[in-house]
Amino acid sequence: MNITILGTGFAALTAIKQTRKHAPKATITVISPKEEMLYYPSLIWIPSGLRKGDDLRVNLHNFFNRQNVQFVEGSVQNVIHSGRTVVTEDGEYHNDGLIIATGGRFIKKLPGIEYAITPCEGIPAAEKIRDRIDGMSGGTIAIGFGGNPNEPSAMRGGPMFEFLFGIDNLLRKQGRRDKFKIVFFNPAPEPGKRLGSKVPANLTKIMTKQGIELHLGHKMIGFEEKLVKTEGGEFSADLILFMPGMTGPLWLADSELPKSAGGMISADMNAKVEGYDNVYVAGDAGSFPGPDWQAKQAHAADLQAVAASKNLVKSLNGQSDFEPFKHELFCIVDTLKHGILIRRTEKGATLLPPCRVLHYAKRAFEWLYLRQYR
Ligand SMILES: Cc1cc2nc3c(=O)[nH]c(=O)nc-3n(C[C@H](O)[C@H](O)[C@H](O)COP(=O)(O)OP(=O)(O)OC[C@H]3O[C@@H](n4cnc5c(N)ncnc54)[C@H](O)[C@@H]3O)c2cc1C
Repeated sequence: MNITILGTGFAALTAIKQTRKHAPKATITVISPKEEMLYYPSLIWIPSGLRKGDDLRVNLHNFFNRQNVQFVEGSVQNVIHSGRTVVTEDGEYHNDGLIIATGGRFIKKLPGIEYAITPCEGIPAAEKIRDRIDGMSGGTIAIGFGGNPNEPSAMRGGPMFEFLFGIDNLLRKQGRRDKFKIVFFNPAPEPGKRLGSKVPANLTKIMTKQGIELHLGHKMIGFEEKLVKTEGGEFSADLILFMPGMTGPLWLADSELPKSAGGMISADMNAKVEGYDNVYVAGDAGSFPGPDWQAKQAHAADLQAVAASKNLVKSLNGQSDFEPFKHELFCIVDTLKHGILIRRTEKGATLLPPCRVLHYAKRAFEWLYLRQYR
């Protein structure tokens, strides 16, 4: 049994562990540009110095040895022959079963988007925010996010609230909050609604209490060097942080694989790619059926990867008792001082108000999660 897994992010690493568990004798090949994982959730702590870039990079060499995995350093360019061949810049790789976990990318179409920092792009972007804030003696910081109208789940709202509250608290800690105006902007009138019906009111209450100005419910037009432009007016800003909506990975654009309206790989509730035998997708790269509050989250990526691995091995073993993945939204929105726990399942939504312990719980979770890969 020759199984190939694409990527080394949350979904791919969970898929490796689960595949090895269910198919101890399988040959597992992993293809990704680097033998490294990047722990995105802690990017929010780079501007304050709570984390450095190197804290978030995990070298996977030992983990791959432990899991008896062959690592191929390369970038996938296409998947052909009904999924049985993966094309990279250096050659083609054959498989009996494939799990795609190459993540998504951000839609950088808005005019002037180059004037905004896209914080979730990685360590250099988060370090740029840190350096820009360090170099400012005052001014306006504008923070916002957009979506993908064709893929409602493809937005990164939670992390942007974390950057917002984190920067507010950082400036307070430094005793210079009064020199800054912070504006939160969003095309939705009630941002955060996907996290639960009570979430927008709670977040707005916190923002108002912290003196954060709101510019909500106006479609984005674009940016200039020091300007945020929306259909509801424009405002000036010295530093602009903006997270556009997400779409599928770049390599997918020319591929024969089925794509959703939003540009992600179309899969079913078992994480199987529509119409393709023994081809599965997990994480941000996929578009899955389910509730309208589904989110592009590491937690969801892990749940999808568990189902993808189990179902792929079952299929290769000739079984057909496939298991759908569980829909659950779970996150701690961190403010640098507190954490706000948000959980949503088919049964309902839970929101725990800001609490100091949850900030430490998020830090402890990072340590526990990464320990398995170090
Ligand atoms: C600032 C921030 C905070 C977040 N906070 C949370 C949180 O608190 N909780 C939570 O659950 N989620 C959080 N998320 C979301 C979470 O990080 C993502 O949903 C998660 O990373 C998705 O996992 P993935 O494996 O699908 O993709 P990724 O983690 O993006 O991994 C994709 C992998 O594919 C590789 N790859 C890319 N292109 C190719 C190619 N062509 N060929 C081969 N390999 C390729 C990449 O190198 C990478 O290894 C946060 C995200 C950000 C940015």
